Amino acid sequence: MKIIVDEDLCQGHGDCVMEAPTVFELGDDDLVVQVLDASPSEDLREEVELAARRCPVNAIIIES
Ligand code: SF4
Repeated sequence: MKIIVDEDLCQGHGDCVMEAPTVFELGDDDLVVQVLDASPSEDLREEVELAARRCPVNAIIIES
């Protein structure tokens, strides 16, 4: 699984961080989310898919 965040769309709300905190991080000064693990293990698929669904601007793309 590969994760891409469209930084032009991300508004830094942090919903994804709540769902998958080992994959996404948002510091106090960050305007867009940081991807900590762009190729997470399959064990995290459920969390990552939930994070993508919760993103209000559909900025998270999961490849395969
Ligand atoms: S939920 Fe979407 S808009 Fe919010 S920080 Fe994550 S990627 Fe960005």
